[in-house]
Amino acid sequence: MKTFRSGGIHPEENKFTSGSPIEEMPVPALLAVPLLQHIGKPAKALVAVNDEVKKGQCIGEADGFVSARIHAPTSGKVKKIEKHPHPGGQFAQTIFIEPDGKDEWLEGLNTPEEDFNVLPAEEKLLRIKNAGIVGMGGAGFPAHVKFSPPKDKKIDTLILNGAECEPYLTADHRLLLENTDEVLKGLAIISSFFKGAGVVMGIEENKPDAIALMTEKAAPYGFQVVTLKARYPQGGEKQLINAVTGRSVGNGQLPFDVGCMVSNVATAAAVYGAVCRTRPLIDRVLTVSGNAIKKRKNVRARIGTMFSDLVTHCGGLGLKRTNLLISGGPMMGKAQYSFEVPVTKTTSGVLFIKEDRIAAAKERPCLRCGRCEEVCAAGLKPWVLGNLSQKGETEKTAEYGLSQCMECGSCSYVCPSKRDLVHWIKYAKTINADIKKRAVKSGN
Ligand code: SF4
Ligand code: SF4
Repeated sequence: MKTFRSGGIHPEENKFTSGSPIEEMPVPALLAVPLLQHIGKPAKALVAVNDEVKKGQCIGEADGFVSARIHAPTSGKVKKIEKHPHPGGQFAQTIFIEPDGKDEWLEGLNTPEEDFNVLPAEEKLLRIKNAGIVGMGGAGFPAHVKFSPPKDKKIDTLILNGAECEPYLTADHRLLLENTDEVLKGLAIISSFFKGAGVVMGIEENKPDAIALMTEKAAPYGFQVVTLKARYPQGGEKQLINAVTGRSVGNGQLPFDVGCMVSNVATAAAVYGAVCRTRPLIDRVLTVSGNAIKKRKNVRARIGTMFSDLVTHCGGLGLKRTNLLISGGPMMGKAQYSFEVPVTKTTSGVLFIKEDRIAAAKERPCLRCGRCEEVCAAGLKPWVLGNLSQKGETEKTAEYGLSQCMECGSCSYVCPSKRDLVHWIKYAKTINADIKKRAVKSGN
């Protein structure tokens, strides 16, 4: 069994929904589709209030090289376009669509399956770009850009990230089991961009059914399945590459610098849809879980579905007040302040947690115990970063590798003094970015 070199933790898995088949969620009464669902500039709206739209119609054009198209998740009418709470924590320009109940595709989309082997690489990349495919594991990096690395970077290993190491989340697990062919064909399409590259599927040991199924189904493709130790953050790009190939992605390097490309499971399935079926990215599979929701499920929901609609679909909340609402997993997800935020292309899960699962202990001074350092898979000294940030000496954090922190939360998780190290690390990153911006503006 493979794993990454150093650090890591094994939090309680709580994967309650690993045996729950994906449910198709009905289209809600109103969809809120943000123009920002990716890294890069938000898309530019192509529609106006009262416009009629068809399912899959492009309603937001990519604005620049690193940006992505946005599509209507169903047919209906544009009700309003305004700033609205976004699961990323900010307000984002959002197109509200009132479904007409017909769920009618735009002509020319959702076509019968086409053999991707006969398509030239440029055509496949164009279809991925037109479909607005982005990294669905959370990064949101436009896929057509990622699959076109600089010419001097030779990719010899394509890795499918089937780790899903975040507690509670099981959406990728279910996709591996239920959309097996789509994932494999998507992976074959991605590998076709890197001639001669080997394909490895890394899956954590806690998904034995997916490992067995993929071992059988991936064989005709010549893909290798590797069992990974259940250890967080096994799904971090650098950790996964290290576990599978033994290579280390150094400071300031990207996966292609060590000959690797990593794809998320949902992204691979979406690539299949874009290339073989002319299907834009208008829905995704996510896990709805936690101890405050009545029915925990894996659902396929349209992009723009509000978290409040997920609650209704999952039988409501099992208590009057949910104390914590998280978009994503409990380690790297973002706490939300409203139920009226929408599912986006990168929403892998939504968790509803009640009080008894939330550590209420007060933050105490650092004991210099070194536990945070032991578990940091990036090899940092989280206690130093936290202390500098808290003292307002954020500029000094650069020399302690602040930019290498992937905000995995392992340090905060193990800290006996309950120090919110990730908060202070994120704070330092924000302040330093601001200082840099001001310096650029003033020409210094
Ligand atoms: S784990 Fe907490 S108490 Fe221990 S060194 Fe790190 S910050 Fe300090
Ligand atoms: S959040 Fe950053 S500093 Fe803390 S363990 Fe993860 S990578 Fe290390």
